[in-house]
Amino acid sequence: MKCAHCGRDIDNKAVICVHCGKSIMQENTDMISRMLLPVGRSGYAITAGYLALFSVLIVPAPLAFIFGLLAYFDIKKNPQKHGLGRAWFGIIMGALGTLILLWFIFQIMMR
Ligand SMILES: [Zn+2]
Repeated sequence: MKCAHCGRDIDNKAVICVHCGKSIMQENTDMISRMLLPVGRSGYAITAGYLALFSVLIVPAPLAFIFGLLAYFDIKKNPQKHGLGRAWFGIIMGALGTLILLWFIFQIMMR
C-alpha cells in the first residue's frame, strides 16, 4: 500500500511510514472523529438537523425544510462535505411539520 502522507510504498502491516515517519493509523482515527464530530459537514446540514429536531414544535418546520434543501444541494455540489442524512432529516421532518402547520392555519382560518 501507499502512505497517505507521502505517497511512497510501505508495508501493508506498517503502523508508521518508514519514509516520512507519520502514523498510518492516523487516517482511521480521523475517520472516526469525523463521524462523531461535525467536521467537514455542510453547515446547512447541521442547521437543518437541529431545526428538524425542533420541528416537533411545528413552527421551525418550514425553516428545517429550506435548510434541508440547501444542505442537500450544498452536499451535491461539494461531495467532500458530509451530512446528507441530516439534510434528508431536515427535508422530511420539515415537510411533515409544514403540512401540520398549514393544517393548523387552515383550521384557525375556517373558524
Ligand atoms: Zn509516508
